[in-house]
Order: sequence, then structure tokens, then C-alpha cells
Amino acid sequence: MSEADCIFCKIARGEVDAEIVYDEDDVLAFEDMNSKAPVHVLVIPRQHVANLEEIGALPDAVVKRLFEVSSAVAEKLGITEGGYAVAINNGRDAGQEIFHLHLHVMGGRRLGMP
Ligand code: AMP
Ligand code: ZN
Repeated sequence: MSEADCIFCKIARGEVDAEIVYDEDDVLAFEDMNSKAPVHVLVIPRQHVANLEEIGALPDAVVKRLFEVSSAVAEKLGITEGGYAVAINNGRDAGQEIFHLHLHVMGGRRLGMP
């Protein structure tokens, strides 16, 4: 999967539409198109990395920012008090479909581990 073909890179470049929730230099957050909870947002680094095995390619500050933006998204969408899950599906057995690292921020209903 090259950056040219990657759907999340296309969203980051503005070539594919998404419901943007949070937008800054290195990190972007947008609504999951097939939401599995009342709030379901994906948080991505703008830089293409496929998975956790490639996370070393990201600057440390961006890795930290992914989590700070996840928290900011939760605050913005009103689920901080109720709580929320931050999840990464990494690889085949986790059902990873898009090989551009992303954090799922899900809340607004009672969630549990699968
Ligand atoms: P996974 O790779 O298992 O973490 O799942 C990828 C997630 O991306 C799924 O929840 C999809 O609904 C979501 N998704 C795929 N394409 C898009 C898109 N173009 N815009 C928003 N969400 C998407
Ligand atoms: Zn990408």
C-alpha cells in the first residue's frame, strides 16, 4: 500500500471527503464512515505509517499528539465524563482493514472488551 493509494492519506490530503473533527499539522481526526458507537472517530498521523511495527518512523511528539488529540476529540464530542475506548486494530487477527495507523475513539454507550 503506497501513500498514493492509501485512503487515509487521501483524506489527509483533502482528496477524499470526510467529516473532519480535528485538524492540525501532524494529526487529523474524522468520523468513522461505519460508526460502531454513538461517537466513533478515527485519529491518524498525517504521515503514512502502516501499523505499530512502523511507529518508530513517527516523531515522538506526534505519537504523543495522537493520544492528546484523542482526548481532545472526546472532550469536543462530550464523552469525557462518560468515558470512551481508544483502540488500534493491528494486523490480520485484529481485523485491520486500513493499513494507515489509526486510533478508534469510541463512546456514547457502554463499551466492553470484545
Ligand atoms: P480497521 O482498519 O479495522 O481499524 O478499520 C478501519 C475503519 O476505517 C473502519 O471502522 C471503517 O469503517 C473506517 N473507514 C474506512 N474507510 C473510511 C473512510 N473513507 N472514511 C471514514 N472511515 C473509513
Ligand atoms: Zn496512508
